[in-house]
Amino acid sequence: MTEEELHAIVHLPKVELHTHFEGMAPPAFIRGLAKEKKVDLSRIFRPDGSYDYRDFWHFLEVYEAATSVLKSPEDFARLCTAVLEESAANGVVYQETFLSPDFCGGGDVAAWKEYLHAIREAATVAERDLGITLRGVITCIRHFGSDQARDTACCAAETAGDFITGFGMGGDEKKGRQRDFSWAFDCAREAGLQLTTHAGEWNGPSEVREAVEDLGVERIGHGVNAHTDPALLEMLAERGVTLEVCPGSNVFLGVFPSLDQHPIAKLRKAGVPVTISTDDPPFFHTTMRKEYEALAKTFRWGEEDFRDLNRIAIGAAFCDEATRSAIAKRLEQP
Ligand SMILES: [Zn+2]
Repeated sequence: MTEEELHAIVHLPKVELHTHFEGMAPPAFIRGLAKEKKVDLSRIFRPDGSYDYRDFWHFLEVYEAATSVLKSPEDFARLCTAVLEESAANGVVYQETFLSPDFCGGGDVAAWKEYLHAIREAATVAERDLGITLRGVITCIRHFGSDQARDTACCAAETAGDFITGFGMGGDEKKGRQRDFSWAFDCAREAGLQLTTHAGEWNGPSEVREAVEDLGVERIGHGVNAHTDPALLEMLAERGVTLEVCPGSNVFLGVFPSLDQHPIAKLRKAGVPVTISTDDPPFFHTTMRKEYEALAKTFRWGEEDFRDLNRIAIGAAFCDEATRSAIAKRLEQP
């Protein structure tokens, strides 16, 4: 591949479906906020300013410390601006992000509405100034249990509309079963929200099958461990269940030892709709441009492969049809 070809790939307009809002917080933004609030967070940064941690457990600690300075609706509005500036700089034109009312107002509906209002205003300004469209997917946290997930689903149902367009679940995949959360997912579906859930990142293919069959989700967060089950791959391809694949995150956290051993090419070959996202980019020392560059080099994918991945992503986006066709048009630009 020539430098020119790689340059064209890296600079393509991009659609990104799987990001955690707080997990996108640029380190410089968190450092600034900590300084304003007189909180000492120097221990979580490397001398070069990036987040510093040793392993998965330490990552969780650093993540918690970094996000602990995000408190008020105003903080989240500023986070929104910082995050969208970074994404737009990476060529992202449409992004979905997981928002958690548990972290914005402690799960209370009235408080959540204030946070949402502030985030949405910042997103509207970014759309006008930077040309990036954001939609929110409200997520419950699996290890907080199914009762709390019900409250989250109620917050989601209350605020479902043209900005909050989806419902999902994140958190520790080793706790509980997908079906424990069917009440929350049914409630969200009835409110008109589209559905996704983290599955098959740490657990095996049966987790992915359960997510589709028990919760009726249209998309799966990660889902990469489906690759060992040919019948499941066929089912995903047939039903058009889209996987939100985050290759850099998977390699960084050790789900796969290296990118060349990642099953993303195998999943595509099996006809499963696959998309590319960064998950918690600064924590995994990645960006959308870095993901594209690494995938292009490792799997020798050309520009048409990436255009195709973006077409799949906008096809599976949780947005209204007017937004979808407007973004699709931008993706086709030479
Ligand atoms: Zn995730």
